[in-house]
Amino acid sequence: MPSANGNGTAVEPLSIKLALPNGVTYNQPTGLFINNEFVKSSTEEKITVIDPATEKEIAAVYAASPADIDTAVAAARKAFKPWKKLPAAKRGDYLLKLTELIDRDRELFAAIDAWDNGKTYEEALTIDMEEAYHVFKYYSGFADKIFGKTIETHPQKLTYCLQEPLGVCAQIIPWNYPFMMLAWKVAPAIACGNTVVIKSSELTPLSVLYFGKLIQQAGIPAGVINIVSGLGGVAGAAMAGHMDVDKVAFTGSTATGKKIMAAASNNLKSITLECGGKSPSLVFKDCDLEQTVKWTYLGAIGNQGEVCSATTRIYVEDDFYDTFMEAFVAYTKEMDKVGLPFEEGNVQGAQVSEGQFNKVMAYIEKGNAEGAKLYYGGERRGTSGYFISPTVFGDITEDMTIVKEEIFGPVVVIGRFSDVDDAVEKANNTVYGLAAAVFTENITRAHQIAADLEAGVVWINESNDCHFGIPFGGVKQTGFGREMGPYAMDMYTHTKAVQVNLGANL
Ligand code: NAD
Repeated sequence: MPSANGNGTAVEPLSIKLALPNGVTYNQPTGLFINNEFVKSSTEEKITVIDPATEKEIAAVYAASPADIDTAVAAARKAFKPWKKLPAAKRGDYLLKLTELIDRDRELFAAIDAWDNGKTYEEALTIDMEEAYHVFKYYSGFADKIFGKTIETHPQKLTYCLQEPLGVCAQIIPWNYPFMMLAWKVAPAIACGNTVVIKSSELTPLSVLYFGKLIQQAGIPAGVINIVSGLGGVAGAAMAGHMDVDKVAFTGSTATGKKIMAAASNNLKSITLECGGKSPSLVFKDCDLEQTVKWTYLGAIGNQGEVCSATTRIYVEDDFYDTFMEAFVAYTKEMDKVGLPFEEGNVQGAQVSEGQFNKVMAYIEKGNAEGAKLYYGGERRGTSGYFISPTVFGDITEDMTIVKEEIFGPVVVIGRFSDVDDAVEKANNTVYGLAAAVFTENITRAHQIAADLEAGVVWINESNDCHFGIPFGGVKQTGFGREMGPYAMDMYTHTKAVQVNLGANL
């Protein structure tokens, strides 16, 4: 039996009873989920989970060792053939069952993620869980819509191409959307007939582990979805380098993405990398000012600024800069409702961890030291919990650290451009290439700029408006591969060509 942790008491093997900040109690699994069972890690080592809003311990969960990764990969390998051989519509039924269970528990999932991550409950419910639910629903319908092709080569030859699953997929996710990131990865992978081992971030393992219960309730065959909590450098590295893993799908920082790519080279695994970003918004003076301010704010500071595609560099047409800045700062003041995730009316919660909090505060200091003008915020909020005010820097130059590096906090930097060429040059002046936004009523100009932006996603007159049907991913050092929409199916299948000789003699 696990020892009681935080406010929890042991209630059943490898599960503790927890009381959420909203008063709801539930049984939180603490074991690794392998072969449809919660199990201890081989070393019995644990990770302590901290509530970023109070800095108090919530629970401790088992951390996977490389030996546990071997066990999880073996389970996924054993489950692969029977899962692949199931009629496609049957796999779709299983996904639909998971969708229904996610819908049933969406408030619980949202509360767990708000507690574990520090984001507001409102945001977790209306954004994360809404999206996770739709992603599962979307891919449940895709399981029996994977089409091959035939190719004409010769009247007495038939060639057809099959889209086949890859095998065992190792999936490694970050902490900013704990359960939603699982949905993005698990749903398309299993719809295509793959089996998975997914690892949560060590900072936010709770909702991902709780999903194991739904897998049991949905009757998903053992080994199809295995869930591990664990440290990146231990469990994550063991997954990326595992010789019996066929694919690694990773979302996280560019630095880790590079390590994963190196580790995955040992058996030439297929890889998808969704890494960091420093995305731009370009604001022209003919934009709808009120809407532009709202979208650019959401694009930069939504989810506490912890968004890979956050458009955190805003460039404004020179003679419109003062007008935009005045409106943006006024709106920031309006949106500055930072506080406890479960307190109604709060717009912004806590940063995920002490480490992340310190990193963001250090960037704010650096911005001040390097001469950017602080227009708003820049301070810690409260005396406990990792709360930071929304922060607006203006009058930036391209060489400043806060302009070049991904901050991953509620900090936006605002500069100027002189004309379209200058705007595009500044937008592309980054090693990253995830997203970009353009605000103008001149639709010709908007499309011309969209063509010139080095990004995987371009928004026109909006920002960070992600949708489960639209491909998401980047170029340059953001990585490669696309998630979401039909494009995700290409990431989880390979093409097999079958050539049939119908009587052509040699
Ligand atoms: P991170 O790279 O530190 O960790 C991400 C995951 O990788 C975690 O599960 C971690 O345990 C694991 N990991 C760490 N070291 C590893 C190693 N050596 N081998 C294998 N796995 C390892 O990133 P983070 O701090 O969790 O997340 C923030 C970063 O993620 C930001 O840079 C952000 O831009 C990026 N992100 C990108 C997207 C996207 O879709 N492009 C989405 C969300 C977050």
